[in-house]
Amino acid sequence: MEAAQTVQRSTQQSVEKGRSQHRIPRDVETDIAYLYEVLPQLSRIFRIIDKIGEGTFSSVYLAEAQMTDGSRRMFALKHLIPTSHPVRIAAELQCLTVAGGKENVMGVTYCFRKEHHVVIVMPYMEHQTFVDIVGSLSFEDVRHYIFHLLKALRHIHKFGIIHRDIKPTNFLFNRQKREYALVDFGLAQGTPDTLIELLKVVKSKAHKGGGSSKMVEESLGKQKLVPLPPNTRNTALQSSTKAPAKRPCPASLVKHSKGLLSKPKREELIPRKIVSSKHRSVPVRAPLNQRQKAPIESQKPKPPAVNPSLTCNCYMTDRVCNICMSRKQQVAPRAGTPGFRAPEVLTKCPNQGTAIDMWSAGVILLSLLSGRYPFFKASDDLIALTQIMTIRGSRETIEAAKTFGKSIVCSRELPRLDLKILCETLRGLRSWDDGLLPAEFQASHNPAEGKQDAVKKHASSLKSSAELQEMGWDKVPDDVYDLLDKLLDLNPASRITASMALQHPLFKDVTD
Ligand code: ADP
Ligand code: MG
Ligand code: ZN
Repeated sequence: MEAAQTVQRSTQQSVEKGRSQHRIPRDVETDIAYLYEVLPQLSRIFRIIDKIGEGTFSSVYLAEAQMTDGSRRMFALKHLIPTSHPVRIAAELQCLTVAGGKENVMGVTYCFRKEHHVVIVMPYMEHQTFVDIVGSLSFEDVRHYIFHLLKALRHIHKFGIIHRDIKPTNFLFNRQKREYALVDFGLAQGTPDTLIELLKVVKSKAHKGGGSSKMVEESLGKQKLVPLPPNTRNTALQSSTKAPAKRPCPASLVKHSKGLLSKPKREELIPRKIVSSKHRSVPVRAPLNQRQKAPIESQKPKPPAVNPSLTCNCYMTDRVCNICMSRKQQVAPRAGTPGFRAPEVLTKCPNQGTAIDMWSAGVILLSLLSGRYPFFKASDDLIALTQIMTIRGSRETIEAAKTFGKSIVCSRELPRLDLKILCETLRGLRSWDDGLLPAEFQASHNPAEGKQDAVKKHASSLKSSAELQEMGWDKVPDDVYDLLDKLLDLNPASRITASMALQHPLFKDVTD
């Protein structure tokens, strides 16, 4: 067995070496120095080379460690913001330890904590940026990509994990090696029967709108954290025969959880990257990048037995009355990125399941087939909902929303588009002059008519028909549009599941 050898180097030396090799910008150097400072134990094992990811809730670094056999290995160090709730952190880690390391789900090697600072150590996976490659993938690449995304989803859904933030930046893809890894369980929640014990805690807290830390401590006290999987390919550091400098984090998190929990800094259980919006306000903006008038309103259906004096008169109109304005906002998880959120998330349906991840996979497939990323570019939920209606139809969206108890008002009817015609046209396989897409959609998306930079940029990236042929885009089976339609099913109850999707005829001859 190998173990990480202690790399005896001072923080300063490590930074110097990193600087000379990579010419990293000064602010990244400062961040790296800070990370060594808050987690000094890192410097005994890792040489941090660069920062490779920066989000609102974490920074991810590339680091190198020397193994006992003398080889060097690359790791990704995810430094979580110190204000993250301890249970949230522990739940993210538990998703990785229990479900990760197989089936295209990222594993975890180790974890460090000092005071509020937690670093999750994962094997580093070199990957491409989606936006750089989406236009250059062959149809076979796309089929392979979506197959492997579905495999990862089937796997985590078996554990009752709802990822809630499925999007290309969380599904790492190495094109050359055809490797895939689902990352980032920072927003994950559990199904009612989840096998991830800590997701039950996250969930119950979220439903209560943030419970007391005492309740969390009690729940944590009962936890038996599952040890790191013993024989995954990612266990180099953890499966050391020598006693490691620090114990793996799950245990230490439990051990010290009292201390951590006693002063929670900030609740971070429900949406992270969400700007809260009053559910009745109607900021009407346009489908896809264009500003058009299509007022929509998402509201709770009128309760059946309501005191008549309290019944408002704006129901099913495009106005919002004062009674509604003063109503409490409905509490429902709304995490994720607007352009990837399912209709039931956008309308704040309180019962959300694994189907929300399937919708997001559908949005990714839509990008892959149309060559356009991001496909839905929405800054808030109502815009996102309008954009969905532009593609899937307003009547259809309204009907589906009724099935999960939501009422949507849309002042203008938007027709449902044929997915095949839509994707082929956007990819440049079909002429806009066919007139098969509504005039309104043409006006905003036809590169010949489009005035927007995004549309122009997209037009310039279009491939010639010879190139498209070479990439297999001239003989795309209808099966793929059938699968796309089933993923983008507006109704979560009938939306295809990951295991059903893997049985789809599209994949009958796919080999790993
Ligand atoms: P956040 O919660 O901040 O979005 P993520 O876990 O999604 O954090 O990581 C952010 C980015 O860091 C990813 O989009 C990816 O580019 C990079 N990253 C994360 N984990 C790894 C890894 N194991 N190997 C390589 N890159 C990674
Ligand atoms: Mg992420
Ligand atoms: Zn009203």
